Amino acid sequence: MNDSSLRIMNKSFNILDKRRATLLKDERTINLKERVKKIRKNSVKHLSSLLEIAQENLQSNGIEVVMAKDAHEAREVIYQLVKNEDMVAKSKSNTAGEIQLTEYLESKKVNVLETDLGDRIVQFDESHPTHPIGPACHLDMARIAEIVSSKLQKDVKAEPRAILDSVKKDITGKIPNCNIGITGANAVAAEDGSLLMVHNEGNISLLTMMDTHIVIVGIDKLVPTLEDAVSVVKLETIYATGKTVPAYMNIVSSPSKTADIEQILLKDMYGAKRVILVLLDNGRSRALQENEECLWCIGCGACIVNCPVYTTLGPEFGYLRHLGGRGIVLSKYIDNDEVCFDSGLYKCTLCGQCTNECPVEIPTNQMLEDLRKESVKKGLYTQKHQEIKNNLKKTRSPFKKELN
Ligand code: SF4
Repeated sequence: MNDSSLRIMNKSFNILDKRRATLLKDERTINLKERVKKIRKNSVKHLSSLLEIAQENLQSNGIEVVMAKDAHEAREVIYQLVKNEDMVAKSKSNTAGEIQLTEYLESKKVNVLETDLGDRIVQFDESHPTHPIGPACHLDMARIAEIVSSKLQKDVKAEPRAILDSVKKDITGKIPNCNIGITGANAVAAEDGSLLMVHNEGNISLLTMMDTHIVIVGIDKLVPTLEDAVSVVKLETIYATGKTVPAYMNIVSSPSKTADIEQILLKDMYGAKRVILVLLDNGRSRALQENEECLWCIGCGACIVNCPVYTTLGPEFGYLRHLGGRGIVLSKYIDNDEVCFDSGLYKCTLCGQCTNECPVEIPTNQMLEDLRKESVKKGLYTQKHQEIKNNLKKTRSPFKKELN
């Protein structure tokens, strides 16, 4: 990431930090935080039983559930559902980013229309999202206007309304050609068989109205009830945006239906005819055995905002859409030890700022320290560490020459 993008990203982070400062000290936020911490810990602890309950209730509500053990399986399941389409519409989803869904579908000649403004700009730019909720926060207005002008082949003024209107016109012009909407979900309520999605732009509402609605979500997003799910997304919104509530919360518990004529149940009124949930494991079961804390995450992105390494390096400190230290931990389970090393295992300062900032207190720095111990045993450490090790043997100091 270049210096200018880093500067703009950090400026956005500072604005966010200031915007939420008072709210984070509010007693209601503190109480909510305590509640969500318990929900997340408890949910992860009972993940396998929650999974069974969720599958049963989602299916009895009419949602088709597919379990995908890894990224390859999840991509293939989704491709089989969309392969006859020219274009599918998609909302922001870190899980879809994790399995590189857009790249895969486009390699198979299915165009993906990102409907989130920030994601569409990043898609135009062919760069990487830099914050889970604000994907384009590394681009300034002039650069965004340049990108949009070049992609849409028209002169777009470096002015927010003009940029928004141009991108919106392009997206809404293409949406009528899409029959399938792909979204993530912020939480899945197992006992209710419901999927909860939050957004500010209204785009997810549009996608839930398409013929088929595909939802991709990691198994770690399960919580027991809809009330728990709402608590989780409220806290996520506070930490991610500095607002108490998002503009929209969509709850999808079945395909579209009505019983308005003599209580006879009829399907297919306005919304999706089919809702298909792809529940992705992709190493989460392994993480559950070894480092279950990394599954408590609610996806707010608070851990990267003041991380000294992320604010210096940007998304190269992390793994795919899982940005920062927690993403590095997850990479070991999604991928392997080498990928974990390459994602920045040794770049972390272990300062613990991420743990201080995290609303559910994931001990990311401690997990990274433990993973380093393991990785050293497997021979995975930096060249510099090897040199220091050799020097210690020869000179009894970290340096080439013996200290006087
Ligand atoms: S690790 Fe904590 S701070 Fe970071 S995204 Fe997850 S919940 Fe938010």
